[in-house]
Order: sequence, then structure tokens, then C-alpha cells
Amino acid sequence: TIGMLALDENGNISGSCTTSGAAWKMPGRVGDSPIIGAGLFLDNEVGGAVATGLGEAVIRTAATTICVEYMRMGMHPQEAAKKAIERICDKHKNHPDMPNLQVGILALNKNGEYGGFGVRSGFNYAICDNDKGNRLEDAGYKL
Ligand code: ASP
Repeated sequence: TIGMLALDENGNISGSCTTSGAAWKMPGRVGDSPIIGAGLFLDNEVGGAVATGLGEAVIRTAATTICVEYMRMGMHPQEAAKKAIERICDKHKNHPDMPNLQVGILALNKNGEYGGFGVRSGFNYAICDNDKGNRLEDAGYKL
């Protein structure tokens, strides 16, 4: 998945995600990316979140929705993304997918604060910032 979140000069949040889906997927599988509230969720009063990785785990937990809800409760996007990833890990602790399960969540709030967190290392993201320039950042990770 390529997920993008943006904050414009008027403070409006937008986002998108695009995916090729999972390898060896069953014909007809619908992943998380086209499901608003799973692979992508935005609330212009709060912020937005986007996910990459195993879509089934993201759908089961409505992971980007809960990430936005954590931000609504006042959490910084980094903390909100971490908490959403922890929800995925808790939900899947006895699941057969868990040994290889990877999900990364990126979050941005109305103040332009952002963060990223993954189940495992290897998830990073690019920041495009008119004031501070462009850069790559490594997400935090749980396992
Ligand atoms: N989230 C996508 C899916 O499960 C896979 C990806 O990260 O591209 O369909």
C-alpha cells in the first residue's frame, strides 16, 4: 500500500491509499485499502490515519478508525498509531497469521503533528514539509 495524508494551508486533512493487494490472494478478495475506516480514515476535526500491511488484521480492528479516535482523545499521532498497533497485536496474539504479521500505521493531526508505528521494524515514511524540507523517518515498532 502507498498511503498518503496531507494537511493544507487552511487546515484541511486529506488522504488516499493505493494497493496491489496481498500476494497469492483469493480471487475476489477485498483488502483494507478500499474500505474507509479500515485502510484509511479521516475526520477533518481531528486528523487522519492510513495503514499498510495485512489488510485482514486492519479490517478486524478498524485500525485507522481507532487511531483517529485515539487522536480525538488527545493522543499525539505517534502514540495513537502505537496504540492502534498494540490493538492489532492483542487481537492477533493467538492468530495463525501472527508470526509474520506486519502492519504499519501512519497518522497526522490538525496541528501538523504526525507519527508512524509498525508491528515490526522496516516501516518508514516520507515527510514533505514546505517549511522544514523533505525527509524520511523510521516508524517505531512493537515486536
Ligand atoms: N493492505 C494491503 C492489503 O491487504 C496490502 C498492502 O499493504 O499493499 O490488501
